[in-house]
Amino acid sequence: MDQERRHFTEMKRRVYLLVLPALALALGMNTVLQAELPLNLYTNLAVLAGVIICWFLLLTRFPFLILEWLLLTLAGLYLLSMLLQALYIGMLEKGENSLGDFIIWMPLITIAAFLVLDKKQAAVANGVLLMFLVAPVIPVFGKLGSDQIDSVLLLYIALAVYTFVFYFLNSLYQRSAEQRALARFAYLDALTGIANRLQIDRWLAEGIAAGERDGRLFSAIFFDLDYFKCINDALGHKAGDEVLKQLAAVVEAELGEGDRFGRWGGEEFIVLTETGEHEAFALAERLRTAIEAHDFGEAGPLTASFGIAVNAPGDTPESVQARADERMYASKEAGRNRVTGRTMETAPEE
Ligand code: GH3
Ligand code: MG
Ligand code: MG
Repeated sequence: MDQERRHFTEMKRRVYLLVLPALALALGMNTVLQAELPLNLYTNLAVLAGVIICWFLLLTRFPFLILEWLLLTLAGLYLLSMLLQALYIGMLEKGENSLGDFIIWMPLITIAAFLVLDKKQAAVANGVLLMFLVAPVIPVFGKLGSDQIDSVLLLYIALAVYTFVFYFLNSLYQRSAEQRALARFAYLDALTGIANRLQIDRWLAEGIAAGERDGRLFSAIFFDLDYFKCINDALGHKAGDEVLKQLAAVVEAELGEGDRFGRWGGEEFIVLTETGEHEAFALAERLRTAIEAHDFGEAGPLTASFGIAVNAPGDTPESVQARADERMYASKEAGRNRVTGRTMETAPEE
């Protein structure tokens, strides 16, 4: 999750690096074109300077969140100055009926709030902005004609509606993102980070279906750590967990593309390969020797016992798994630290 957040922040940083110069250019042109209006001129220049400073800060290690708050405040101040300008000069001095086109575009600031803040904070920030925009109208409300009041109200309504819509969209997005994350974690083993039983069941079902459909072979390599209980008993459950994590890493390093690896439960694991028994046997042997050779630290040397089953017509996920399990137990009974398949059995050299 943290990684996703960092990724999102990095993406936003890049967007700002591109968007801020465009914004600065628009503000610059606006300043030149409307230079006769003093209030607008000063705020334009101030906001322009602020945008340029923020752009340079983006290139430094300046805290990103503070920078976003600065940009948001600048946007709010800009909107306020536009309203003051349009209200006091446009409407009250020149008698214009409308605040101007900006009332259509300016409420887009509400989106920026939702990009920067979490949804509740964004709703509050937009509420505060609305209050700042309502305040200057109150003292002169009596002097406004009905068209002018309509235009002012339109700005307020647009702000409120945009806020409501983005709040709603944000909630929807959040929920679907949460569901996606849940779906992803539902198929992972929390301790080792590899696939869990649920995922393995799906893989087995896929393998069986492909076998029935076009005769494709797959092998299930099932293995169980030898005397694992002793590690828990001697060093504690935490040390046992650490061993399981290391084991997952050791096995993963040996796997090739297309090999699938998961934790069946406890200290039992399964590897599914899209090969027949011969290649699966060679892989299991490689895994067996890699586990045997690995230094598990205080847990000392460790071994595992393997059983291999290949899918055959009429198999179900359960029958393949049960066959691999049976052969794994045959390995245990024959002395552990060995691989048993249908036709082959190996034992480490004494
Ligand atoms: P064998 O060679 O016959 O497999 O002996 P074993 O001691 O490995 O087998 P057994 O099934 O008796 O013990 C398995 C142990 O694995 C029991 C349990 O305490 C431990 N275990 C199961 N899941 C976990 C886990 O998530 N973490 C830890 N630390 N231990 C676990
Ligand atoms: Mg065991
Ligand atoms: Mg076991």
